[in-house]
Amino acid sequence: MVKEKEFKGLNSEEVEELRKKHGYNELVKTEKPSAIKKFLEVFKEPMFLLLLGTAALYFILGEPKEAAIMLVFVAFVASITFIQEWKTERTVNSLRDLTSPHVNVKRDGEKKLIKSNELVPGDIIFISEGERIPADCEVLEASNFSVDESILTGEPEAVFKVTADEDKSDKSGDYWKKYMLYAGTLSIFGKCTAEVASIGFDTEYGKIGKAISETGDEITPLQKKTRALVKNLAIAGLILCVLVIIFSYLYSGNLIESILSGITLAMAMIPEEFPVVLTVFLSLGAFRLAKKNTLIRRIAAVETLGSATVLCVDKTGTITKNIMEVKYAYIDGRLIEVNKLSSKEFKKLMILSCEKDPYDPMEKAIVKVGEKDIDIKKLYDLDILEKVPFNSQTKRMANIFRKDEKMYVALKGAPATVLPLCSLTEDDEKSILKAMDNMADKGLRVLAFCESYSDELKENIEDYSFTFKGLVGLQDPPKEGVREAIEVCKKAGIRVVMITGDYSKTAEAIGKEIGLKFNNTTITGEDIDSMSEEGLCEKVNHCDIFSRVIPEHKMKIVKALKKNNEIVAMTGDGVNDAPALKSADIGIAMGKRGTEVAKEASHMILMDDNFTTIVESVKDGRRIFDNIRKAMVYILIIHIPIAAIALCSPIFNLPQILLPVHIVLLELIIDPTCSIIFEGEEAEPYIMEQPPRSPEEPLLTWKMTIKAVLQGTVMFLGAFLPFHYLVDYGYNVDFARSFSLMTLVVSNVILVLVDRSNTKSLFSIFREGKSKSSLIINGIALVMIFSVVYIKPLNSIFKTIPLDGKMLSLSILLAIISAAWWEIVKLFNNRIGR
Ligand code: ADP
Ligand code: MG
Repeated sequence: MVKEKEFKGLNSEEVEELRKKHGYNELVKTEKPSAIKKFLEVFKEPMFLLLLGTAALYFILGEPKEAAIMLVFVAFVASITFIQEWKTERTVNSLRDLTSPHVNVKRDGEKKLIKSNELVPGDIIFISEGERIPADCEVLEASNFSVDESILTGEPEAVFKVTADEDKSDKSGDYWKKYMLYAGTLSIFGKCTAEVASIGFDTEYGKIGKAISETGDEITPLQKKTRALVKNLAIAGLILCVLVIIFSYLYSGNLIESILSGITLAMAMIPEEFPVVLTVFLSLGAFRLAKKNTLIRRIAAVETLGSATVLCVDKTGTITKNIMEVKYAYIDGRLIEVNKLSSKEFKKLMILSCEKDPYDPMEKAIVKVGEKDIDIKKLYDLDILEKVPFNSQTKRMANIFRKDEKMYVALKGAPATVLPLCSLTEDDEKSILKAMDNMADKGLRVLAFCESYSDELKENIEDYSFTFKGLVGLQDPPKEGVREAIEVCKKAGIRVVMITGDYSKTAEAIGKEIGLKFNNTTITGEDIDSMSEEGLCEKVNHCDIFSRVIPEHKMKIVKALKKNNEIVAMTGDGVNDAPALKSADIGIAMGKRGTEVAKEASHMILMDDNFTTIVESVKDGRRIFDNIRKAMVYILIIHIPIAAIALCSPIFNLPQILLPVHIVLLELIIDPTCSIIFEGEEAEPYIMEQPPRSPEEPLLTWKMTIKAVLQGTVMFLGAFLPFHYLVDYGYNVDFARSFSLMTLVVSNVILVLVDRSNTKSLFSIFREGKSKSSLIINGIALVMIFSVVYIKPLNSIFKTIPLDGKMLSLSILLAIISAAWWEIVKLFNNRIGR
């Protein structure tokens, strides 16, 4: 007997009391992020150590003013870095909160969804299929509820849970109780209401110390690659730094100046922006995706998304609307439109074979047909004896009632699994199959209904003898925009593969409607079972539709595709989908329909269950990666003139142009430029018109490196040659320095405008009005350099002298030429591209 009992649950005050006593329901002590700790971490960066070292050096040399200035800068740069890291971390944390497990609980008399770590003993919780049990609980009510406890007991078989009253086993014998749910185990079937008994470390799971250690700060493949790059550059910088100190000492004999030159070069070469750019771009990217209904659970997914080559998607609910409507019925040998259906008996069967108060859109549609002329309330007064729930393997469900002193079984399901239960004549069967094909060809999902009267309850549903009653055809049209999104995928070199448990013909009709490639045959679950691995690998290349599959087949499909070197994204919602989601390159769980287990196994969660959102995310993934590359190339370019100047001054026996203060000034410009301007850049128009990027492709290709070297070298020449020339002609060194600095900073501003897009021109930024941050940051850079050159007190700090009008114009002209010449290359490239 399943009757909904009422449970009171706790109220807020009680929860607060219990929280004080028991704490939070967690197995890892979540540390509150400490601002001071974070701030101190900033100083671990080599850049800051160098800055501090320089300040100390100045101090020792008896130049306290210089030392103080360096310290001010240190504070400045440190604050910027700190704020940026703080913000990034907050973003990541808020994402983690969104994706952390939740549970339905009764509190203050209401059913609500709370985070699992907020549970306290005494809470009443509601568990349904596919949830991770959040705490040790006692069962209050269970209907056909089974749990996988292998994580604790090692026993693979599912354990059916009952209430303490119903538990007839010897309660003292077994350690694991049938009336208890244990934290960490997995519900695989049915529903259950339970009362939390213990939480956190007090649970059996917590006691074994099998704490689910949070995967900590996860490092993406890209971050790994970059770390290696940074290390190499740092080593190279160190070697050069030592060489510069030695050589310039040999030349000039001035040790202090030599050491400063060395330090300047080291500071110029530390590529500390690279890792910053990655973290900022990836986490901010994840944040932007979250606003567009894609929750990223593993940051690495942001990277992988852009290189996806195959999207495997469920049909129902992802490609189709999952708003079903019954269109046809087949009854007494005739196929009729549903509004002509008059048989009350059949309508009753239709309703009784569904859940009471269904939430499944298909069942809702079925119940709706009978609603008008049947008193549903009265119908539900029947005593329900047993529910045989739907499962994706059997593809059918049944309810067993007591009716007129007999057992009445109402069953519905996929015809392929229902018809074998019924005794049919050959003629009947032929006629039924014809009606099925007829409906399936229209893209309708077909369900078969049958019933049975019996004197007693039987063990298996197969043991009843059923009478076939009829078929129903349900329409579930594709969502808007799916066809277009698939078209976009085709252009982007991405295949879309549709996976469904539906009948092949239905799948084909929908596939045709949305433009999939399948040569009029689909690969069915049975085909997969009978194929060798190699055979499947070969077949998956030619067919985009898999029909009549069960979730277990998804795993095989993922494996076969991966063997073919594809980067596979796979969607899923059920418990059985979890392994496939885990093994896919990008496992996508459904936010609305998905079970907790599927979400846990996934890399990202699709909040609106919509296929077009996946395609949007792929586009975003590509954009983010493209922008990371642009930012990296920019960092490379701008460091070439800085490092080369630091290196060449001693080589050409010239005074240093760039002193540590200047490097810091430049860093203050470069840092926000690369992490803010390039992060916000829009996608290039061709981004979805090129094939997916191979994951093996290096972060910086040869082409990009050559581009960087060319652009960087020209900028170096533009800043260094005039200095050389002016000093040779007897100009004051500080005057020459002003000239070079002005040229360098202005050309940096132009460079940013040139390199932000490969297709848009340098001037487009003024037309768009969208890139406010770009205008602001570039504006600040210009204000800074003009202040340094023209404000008296700053002159002595930065060792500069104001430029006269003629020299200023000349320096700006030089700056424009040395950065804007790339526009011509761009123009040329775009011509060829077209
Ligand atoms: P899909 O992959 O398209 O979501 P499912 O695995 O959900 O397909 O369903 C597979 C088949 O099982 C359906 O085509 C239908 O015939 C049958 N089916 C689905 N839901 C139910 C249900 N609630 N009751 C009976 N049969 C169902
Ligand atoms: Mg389904």
